[in-house]
Amino acid sequence: MGGHARFSPSSGKRRLECPPSLLLEEQFPDEESPFAAEGSAGHAMAEYLINKYLKKRTKRPVSDYYSDELLEAVDDYVEYNIGQIEQARKDCDDPFIGVELKVSLAHRIRDCFGTADMVVVDSHKIHIIDLKLGKGVVVDAEQNVQLMIYGLGVLDMLGFLYEIDTVELTIVQPRIEHFSTWEISAEELLVWGKDVLEPGAAKALAGEGEFKAGDHCRFCKARFTCRARAEEYLKLAQMEFAEPALMSDEEIAEVLSKADALKKWAEEVYTYAQNEAVVNHKEWPGYKLVLGRSNRKYTDEDEVAEAAQKAGYTDIYKKSLIGITEMERLMGKKEI
Ligand code: SF4
Repeated sequence: MGGHARFSPSSGKRRLECPPSLLLEEQFPDEESPFAAEGSAGHAMAEYLINKYLKKRTKRPVSDYYSDELLEAVDDYVEYNIGQIEQARKDCDDPFIGVELKVSLAHRIRDCFGTADMVVVDSHKIHIIDLKLGKGVVVDAEQNVQLMIYGLGVLDMLGFLYEIDTVELTIVQPRIEHFSTWEISAEELLVWGKDVLEPGAAKALAGEGEFKAGDHCRFCKARFTCRARAEEYLKLAQMEFAEPALMSDEEIAEVLSKADALKKWAEEVYTYAQNEAVVNHKEWPGYKLVLGRSNRKYTDEDEVAEAAQKAGYTDIYKKSLIGITEMERLMGKKEI
């Protein structure tokens, strides 16, 4: 195992929902965002702390991303894992504990492997625990394709050593205090692997199936220029209004709900286009990159005022009304 998985567990949901996204995304270079780099640093620290707890030889990682806030979030995750490890030790004489465990499903799907953050196996249950350091979107464990793939991989790998009947998937999102756990029976997971994952992955790897936009587009490399996604958003704008001439409150509320999604997508496309123009000098038909007005400032206002007055300029100051907060401070709230 090594290199880059063409069908990676983290993009599993996207591949199953929109199979042709796999070949489409392969046309784009890899993205490395500061959020991803911070996430990797957080995972490395968690791995170190858990290995240290397990008394394994390990080296403390170093990174500029280690703020107090990030380390606190990592601590919460580590604490949760220690609880799971101790519970497994109570329930089973010889539990399996895997930190940053490489999981391969190559025997089921060509080019499918990944790294599970934490795997604990006791006498009858596989626990897959995943650390998410994002704060923006809540991620749930229920039907989470990424974790289901890890669970299936571990089941294939260790199912013959332990009598596994249940696979428990947990997402720990410490920065928003979100812990989500979901269980699936080993039997159901095996059926899902055969009936859903394997045919879906085969379709994706062959570049077959239909494009389908949805929440899974969020991390797709094609998201800014994808036609299917654009069409999905533009559909939002095509609302059908009934008579009479004025919109009802319900219709206005419906426009508001759709406008949010539409605005967000339009902003993403705008940011992408602007970035391409600035970084890659891309020219968009009908648009010209205009440099913004520079924010010119005096380096020393007193010096400039003195020099201007000496030169005979007197009308150099402007009067403006102070802000509400300042006025309140001056007069007290009642007076205003
Ligand atoms: S942006 Fe969405 S619809 Fe387009 S290829 Fe990616 S996942 Fe599919």
